[in-house]
Amino acid sequence: MKGLYVHIPFCEHICFYCDFAKRVPKDAHMIDEYLDYLIQEINSYQKHFKSIETIYIGGGTPSMLNLEQTEKLLKHLLSIHPVEYTIEVNPESYTKEKGLLYKTYGINRISLGVQTFNQEILNQLNRKHKNQQVYDTIHHLKDIGIDNINIDLIYALPNQNLIDLDFDLKHIKELNPTHISAYSLILEEKTVFYHEYLKGNFSVMDEDIEAQMYQKIIKELKAMGYQHYEISNFTKPGYQSKHNLIYWSLGEYIGVGVGAHGYIDGYRMQNHRLLKDYYQNFQLEKVLQTKEMNLQDALIFGLRKIGGIDIQSLEKQYEFNLLDRFPKIQEKMDQGLVSYQSGILKLTEKGIFLGNQVFMVFI
Ligand code: SF4
Repeated sequence: MKGLYVHIPFCEHICFYCDFAKRVPKDAHMIDEYLDYLIQEINSYQKHFKSIETIYIGGGTPSMLNLEQTEKLLKHLLSIHPVEYTIEVNPESYTKEKGLLYKTYGINRISLGVQTFNQEILNQLNRKHKNQQVYDTIHHLKDIGIDNINIDLIYALPNQNLIDLDFDLKHIKELNPTHISAYSLILEEKTVFYHEYLKGNFSVMDEDIEAQMYQKIIKELKAMGYQHYEISNFTKPGYQSKHNLIYWSLGEYIGVGVGAHGYIDGYRMQNHRLLKDYYQNFQLEKVLQTKEMNLQDALIFGLRKIGGIDIQSLEKQYEFNLLDRFPKIQEKMDQGLVSYQSGILKLTEKGIFLGNQVFMVFI
């Protein structure tokens, strides 16, 4: 399995928590110019097209491209025939025409940026959509036959409480998407929230309440028939994100566009984050991964999967012994954070909440 990630770095507004590679475009020409460079970069990977099985167009806000711009991009991906083809959509920039265009070009999965259904909190995040737009987008997508839909949620938001979370989960139950990604809010540098935090106007949520929220999400989504398959991801049976599984299983993927990352032929690649640098030379760095680096990634990414890691085959592949190489893992087993049974190493129910303490063992 090989994946292709395509980054569209433009947004209509900047959310106060966001540290992705993004900007508000000056005008339509700025987007057109970017697409020209992006398509050049896509074409430079033509020899890999046959082996690409997933495409993920993310951002930024890919759905803010107009019809012409969207078609220009999708046309250049036509000779790839992925089994899973995702585009990220923000509800306020979705139109029926765009949905039909996605469908025409083979897109079969939508990742919808919802974050919360509480309008007041959405305003505090500087997100601009209304709940009705979420409902209209999902209904239209289902009408045209795109029914594999992920909803992105964020919890531990400023001023959010467990009742607000209940409200979000009630809407999830009603909309019944195939997949949910639920991440807690992380205070990142270079964000509006971080500046507010430095001024004393923003406080990070209490860890216990955050843990209660996570616990509630797991419990209620499971009751709705979702499988918890990665620390922050939940799926209806058969709808796991194939593209994300490539990342978590140390598979190969190409990343194109500003700030994009890739992992091909043993090299990790990263593109420039600024448009002017990207236009000079797409790539910022290309680093050959040592066996040690790959082992560390395989353990950390692998443990994010709730099913855990087959240590016996990993030990064979990397010629190591888990307990000899990482003796501190025994301590985490004794603390009940990780279990090692029948050759499978995985986080326990308790460990899922404290994954970072386990991951530290491998760093
Ligand atoms: S969260 Fe998404 S929509 Fe908001 S600024 Fe970041 S990339 Fe843009």
